[in-house]
Amino acid sequence: MSDSRNYTVGWICALETEYVAAQSFLDEEHKGPEYVSPHDNNDYTLGKIGKHNVVIAVLPDGEYGTSSAASVARDMLHSFPNVRIGLMVGIGGGAPSSKHDIRLGDIVVSAPRHGESGVFQYDFGKTIQNQSFQPTGFLNQTPMVLRTAINGIKAEHKRKGHQIEQAINGVLQESPRLRRDYKRPDMNSDRLYLSEFVHTKEEETCAVACGDNPSSLVPRIKRTESDDNPAIFYGTIASSNQLMKDAVARDSLAKEKEVLCFEMEAAGLMNHFPCLVIRGICDYADSHKNKEWQGYAAMAAAAYAKNLLCRIPLNKMEAEKKLCDVISSVKNSLDEVYTATQDTKATVQNLDLEQKRGKVEYWLSPPDPSTNFNKALQQRHKGSGLWFLQSDNFIKWRTQPSSFLWLHGIPGCGKTILSSTIIEQLGTMLPSQTILYFYFDFNDTAKQTLDKMIRSLIYQFYHNDEKDSQPLYSLFSSCKDRQRQPTTEELCNVFFEMLNRIEEIWIVLDALDECSTRRGPAINGVLSWIREILNTEQRNVHLLVTSRPEQDIESEITQHYQKDDIIAIKSGLISDDIRAYIHARVRENPGLKRWWSHVEVQNEIELRLIEKADGM
Ligand SMILES: [Zn+2]
Repeated sequence: MSDSRNYTVGWICALETEYVAAQSFLDEEHKGPEYVSPHDNNDYTLGKIGKHNVVIAVLPDGEYGTSSAASVARDMLHSFPNVRIGLMVGIGGGAPSSKHDIRLGDIVVSAPRHGESGVFQYDFGKTIQNQSFQPTGFLNQTPMVLRTAINGIKAEHKRKGHQIEQAINGVLQESPRLRRDYKRPDMNSDRLYLSEFVHTKEEETCAVACGDNPSSLVPRIKRTESDDNPAIFYGTIASSNQLMKDAVARDSLAKEKEVLCFEMEAAGLMNHFPCLVIRGICDYADSHKNKEWQGYAAMAAAAYAKNLLCRIPLNKMEAEKKLCDVISSVKNSLDEVYTATQDTKATVQNLDLEQKRGKVEYWLSPPDPSTNFNKALQQRHKGSGLWFLQSDNFIKWRTQPSSFLWLHGIPGCGKTILSSTIIEQLGTMLPSQTILYFYFDFNDTAKQTLDKMIRSLIYQFYHNDEKDSQPLYSLFSSCKDRQRQPTTEELCNVFFEMLNRIEEIWIVLDALDECSTRRGPAINGVLSWIREILNTEQRNVHLLVTSRPEQDIESEITQHYQKDDIIAIKSGLISDDIRAYIHARVRENPGLKRWWSHVEVQNEIELRLIEKADGM
């Protein structure tokens, strides 16, 4: 049995055909390993190529793709801890172009450049649908000793050509059984069809279905004695979990990323098993598939891999870092990079958002209704408003789509306290929903117009849910980032757009009668604005407003809304009887006769009296 610690080259194949080819190029074959990791289910072939001990593994039968490759590689490195260089050797689909005359049986080697590995991963689904590629780069971990050997081989081939064809023939001579499946197929079966020419009859071969009509083929000149055959290309290999069989997508990647070859495993390996990828070309990554060239292409790739290993001196190999050490350092640096990027991204995003919010807030300068809310709650008596919160009206309003309620009451009946109780209750009952509110206020000039109300509602909306704020950002930038103030109309439009983006919303507006811009069209009168909000069917707005029963408000609301939508407010502490008594006395008591024509003063007297009664 062989000591697994003696093996320095890890060679991975995806298919049995490739495994056979790899084994065929061993100079000597060793017995199986003495010991492998307990969970390692890989099949290994051990042997020697040149001066190096090589361990070859294959993916389980029927499995392919990046993750299978990654797991085979991981197990290999556990069982063979001294592996120093990795090779992924097998077949792939070529991407011929005017720049790279790639033919069947040729060899493509992943060539690291610009600090990248020479392999990139792309998302196949997106390739086909949107023609846009989202490649993932890998760190270049190709060992120095391999890169040096590649350069040596290139120079040698340039001068003297290579012996790959002869090496394959030598193998086939020694193993006649392999000849049928692994010899070079007839040159006439190497057909490169035009990209638009699609193979339609799945069950028929290209010879039958697609034929040899020159009008469907890409014209290519026969290779001569002075051309390398097979030819060897160095460049980028594209890797994905799905098979590339679309000539148009192939061409587009070849052009955009200078891809020479498509395959399905390398991307899974690069960060677990830094390796050189060597692919023999068995088809053109298009709809025309045949298996005829697979054996020979696998042989060509294996022959190249052997060439490469034979160039590496023993002492240079031993001087290389062990792959398992390389990987842990790759993993650490990837983790660090990842954590650092995530942190930075989050911080930048937060900073960005905070800064943006600050700018938008400054520009919008919304009045803050929470001061009214807090003040009202401080004045509230225990149990106040319960009569309403427990009423059917409230439940209906809260739950039925596009609902409206007008709570009206004489001054001092506790409207503002009731509004605040409702807002508080909504917040408790619907913690993840959008609830907006505003208090019109005689005592605060910043809270007396529709314009100010909209600013406040938009800002609450924005603060609540960043993702629905695109209309606001658009307005912000169209105002040249706060150089100009938006008009009320623009604000109204933004607010309606924001409403259209949300499924459901609850809005409470207190003391409409304290709004100085009640009349006029929806862009400046709050009453028409209310009608506009509720008129659109697709919006699911629950709107509740409170006010004194001022004539204009009453007439607007009784004209447009149901009787059920209108509720008179009961004070939590004084009975309706007392309220009615006070109301009547103020208006009928002869002692107060001189105020009879002054409704405002009467209201004021009534308010004071009710407040006194409240305190009793
Ligand atoms: Zn075909």
